[in-house]
Amino acid sequence: MKELIKKLVEAWGPSGYEHHVREIIRQEVAPFADDIRVDPLGNLICRVGQGGKKIMIAAHMDEIGVMAMYAEKTSGYLRFAPIGGVLNTTLLGTRVRFENGITGVVGAHDYFGTGRTSATDIDNFFIDVNDGTENTVQVGSPAIFWRPFEERGTRLIAKSMDDRIGCVVAIEAMRRLNKQAPNELHFVFTVQEEVGLRGARAAGYGVDPDLAIALDVTSTGDMAKNPKMEVKLGGGAAIKIHDTGHVVPPAVRDWMINRAQTDGIPYQLELLTLGTTDSAAIQTSRAGVPSGAISIPCRFVHTTSETVDTGDVEACVKLLVGLVGNTVSL
Ligand SMILES: [Zn+2]
Repeated sequence: MKELIKKLVEAWGPSGYEHHVREIIRQEVAPFADDIRVDPLGNLICRVGQGGKKIMIAAHMDEIGVMAMYAEKTSGYLRFAPIGGVLNTTLLGTRVRFENGITGVVGAHDYFGTGRTSATDIDNFFIDVNDGTENTVQVGSPAIFWRPFEERGTRLIAKSMDDRIGCVVAIEAMRRLNKQAPNELHFVFTVQEEVGLRGARAAGYGVDPDLAIALDVTSTGDMAKNPKMEVKLGGGAAIKIHDTGHVVPPAVRDWMINRAQTDGIPYQLELLTLGTTDSAAIQTSRAGVPSGAISIPCRFVHTTSETVDTGDVEACVKLLVGLVGNTVSL
């Protein structure tokens, strides 16, 4: 799985520009799907198994980034807009990568003044893409925040664990199921989650499932000054109970908890007070879809060093396979 994780977290795919990620995933899952298609928005939809419940499993392919908005007339520095929930505190000195492979460096206006310690408005920042002679990037070009994948024991660190690690959980589940499932599964690798759950909303309507599960990272409460949150790194798969866009129906919650207990899979309960994920959009599509989420605990979400634990990733794969690989009586 490690090789696939590295390939996917280092892939380039800001919201709305997921084509490189989609190609990698399409090749990975080809042997394990009965049918693969891409919908008009760019969601990659892979069908596995038949009979039973029609279950949609969603993991988003996109990552946060920036878009070049305006080149300063004399300096050539690029002004930019965020793509998704960019944290201003992560910007100064960070590197962004454009699709043409050019690396830009983010500078701050008042670097020698208050900017050193107080990153505030995005207008304080600019991107240097000058190669010594000219600017190498056109206005309108999107970029990702760039940092290579690294490991530290069981911890995996990368720029886009959110949500490539969710994609990995889905791909690995497909591999283990090997086309055998007593349900009609639709593994959907969604677009544009970071800008408002847009891909999942369209795919939820198109697939029209009986039940849905989103796979995404969640924050943890185990940092130096914790938010009051139960989830911790290494504590197992996080079963979503509640977040800002989503109240998981008790029947879905209990289905997941019972499965984890029956299979002896370490799990924890996720109550997230900031953020939501694809299942929030799917649950309100058409006449409503009972939806839940399996979350991968992740430190430093929306930075270039999103950190997950391999034990948690394995627990999430096992839980997903146990849920969708057995008959569902919900
Ligand atoms: Zn996410």
